[in-house]
Amino acid sequence: MIHYALRCEAGHEFDGWFKDSATFEKTAAKGLLECPFCASTRVTRALMTPAIAGGRRDEPSPQPPAAPPPAAPEKAVAGPIPPALYAALARLRAEIERTCEYVGSAFAEEARRIHEGEAERRGIYGEATPEEAEALREEGIEVQSIPWVPRTDG
Ligand SMILES: [Zn+2]
Repeated sequence: MIHYALRCEAGHEFDGWFKDSATFEKTAAKGLLECPFCASTRVTRALMTPAIAGGRRDEPSPQPPAAPPPAAPEKAVAGPIPPALYAALARLRAEIERTCEYVGSAFAEEARRIHEGEAERRGIYGEATPEEAEALREEGIEVQSIPWVPRTDG
């Protein structure tokens, strides 16, 4: 199951669970996704935070010391999440923070620079709008969106 933060055209945010991303796309395309607040069927996934670009790293390269991320960019998840999934997402977050560089809202720009070879090839994460993420995919740049859970380890 995949958890998506969803948003309707009026800006209402709510949660949805889907078997996989294809199921989500199909459901949304058929207009079967409905905002619980205003019944709009123009529903999109909310902010995709964060995303990762750069794909495989071919050789192990020393990571520059990661700058601590600025305070609380979390926006991606709302509502109850099963504890086991929550724990998995927290581990995923920790792993991303350990291995990737935080670039904040410059994510799309930096992903393009890496893709064009203008910046060092490395894993990055940051914030991108659905439109930015879609544009990157159309340019052949691999990005992932990941539910970003608050830290549990203090
Ligand atoms: Zn709505």
